[in-house]
Amino acid sequence: MKVTIFGTGYVGLVTGACLAEVGHQVMCMDVDTHKIDRLKDGIIPIYEPGLEPIVKANIDSGNLLFTSNAEEAVSHGQVQFIAVGTPPDEDGSADLQYVLAVAESIATYMSDEKIIVNKSTVPVGTADKVRAKAQSKLDERRVHLPFSVISNPEFLKEGAAVNDCMRPDRIVVGIDREGETRGKVEATMRELYAPFCRNHEKIIFMDVRSAELTKYAANCMLATKISFMNEMANIAERVGADIEQVRQGIGSDPRIGYQFIYPGCGYGGSCFPKDVKALISTSKQLGYKAEILESVENVNDRQKHKLFEMICQHYGCDPKNPGDTLRGKVFTLWGLAFKPKTDDMREAPSRTLMEQLWAAGAKVQAYDPEAMDECERIYGNQDGLHLMGTPASALHNADALVIVTEWQSFRAPDFNLIKEQVADQVIFDGRNMHEPSQVMDKGIGYYGIGRGKAI
Ligand code: NAD
Repeated sequence: MKVTIFGTGYVGLVTGACLAEVGHQVMCMDVDTHKIDRLKDGIIPIYEPGLEPIVKANIDSGNLLFTSNAEEAVSHGQVQFIAVGTPPDEDGSADLQYVLAVAESIATYMSDEKIIVNKSTVPVGTADKVRAKAQSKLDERRVHLPFSVISNPEFLKEGAAVNDCMRPDRIVVGIDREGETRGKVEATMRELYAPFCRNHEKIIFMDVRSAELTKYAANCMLATKISFMNEMANIAERVGADIEQVRQGIGSDPRIGYQFIYPGCGYGGSCFPKDVKALISTSKQLGYKAEILESVENVNDRQKHKLFEMICQHYGCDPKNPGDTLRGKVFTLWGLAFKPKTDDMREAPSRTLMEQLWAAGAKVQAYDPEAMDECERIYGNQDGLHLMGTPASALHNADALVIVTEWQSFRAPDFNLIKEQVADQVIFDGRNMHEPSQVMDKGIGYYGIGRGKAI
């Protein structure tokens, strides 16, 4: 099947590569010509495990094409995916300008029937806006061409995106039209996704609005689990309980489960913060106060300050006004990406911490296995930032070690080296990667999240 994908970010590029891998003929379009030029040469703009080989293989086989020419892109695919960004507007609502620009491009250049599939995360009702935008362009062109607008939200996780795309838990498809058109669109989507449903049916068909809300409901549920555990961790700390023991105690209940109940220094990334905000905003516009979601966001904002608060507690200063206590101190940061196996630093807790440390006059020596270039891009000129080539070199002449992202490579560090290199012999562990007693037995101070009795 011939497929066009607008947007070659995490979602568009991974989707395009996976559809090409199973045999579809895919053309990816992006307005970022530099990105497209590099992709044509097989240079992947993001770090995503397993992505590079399938992009390269499918460029070579001719199944995966790249263009920045919208007309060429529109004429290629019978199915036109929208996978562009939907960043938060100032009031937290999703900014739809990129989505609607793609709708306009499709209607500007289409000369036969198209199925427009929206994969971007968009507020309920966006399909109607996409349809109206495309229709008004067709009217302006004075042409009569049939098209459908359907919703197919994406559930892939950065860091496991290729696997999630090749082996999805479910594929949600929202279609509104009745009768023959619906049958045709449904059949096309079944054919498109058949290679991913070989063992059992994974497509869940529903109406468009329900599909649009399904995506927000999923991300808000996951964000809620994280904020809930962070709240429990903060309580555990105060009552002298260890959240890690509590986590095991509740995870063993199958109604709760072990997944996604890890306390830490807050969620980040390009999705949870913006999607929680967007659903709060949608609710507000409709006169409903989304109390749980507002709390989820507030708890997370507070949690992102947690590491700095622990640091201030250790050094005996007020986090709101640390004075000169931290001035000149050197903090090693292990981990910059918002989670492991990605180079994405959007809304990462590391950014909140680094900015607080710099404001207090401290210095940062940071190492991340994948996000160094991204950090350089964001903070390249920042005074007090040194990007180091290895976890060990980042410890050199440091005063304290802070673990911000739970990369596997930080799981079994050389504690003797830490003790030797880190002047104040203390670890602030924002991801509870280590057992407090093990670290403290080595003669190193330890602060974790919600580890009350254990510390
Ligand atoms: P991204 O910012 O990584 O990429 C978006 C791309 O779209 C950019 O390359 C940009 O140049 C391009 N673009 C902008 N306007 C365009 C236009 N008119 N035509 C063609 N290309 C255009 O975004 P992303 O992380 O891939 O997310 C895309 C959407 O998918 C968002 O709505 C996001 O919420 C959603 N989503 C993201 C993830 C994730 O893990 N990143 C997961 C599920 C859903």
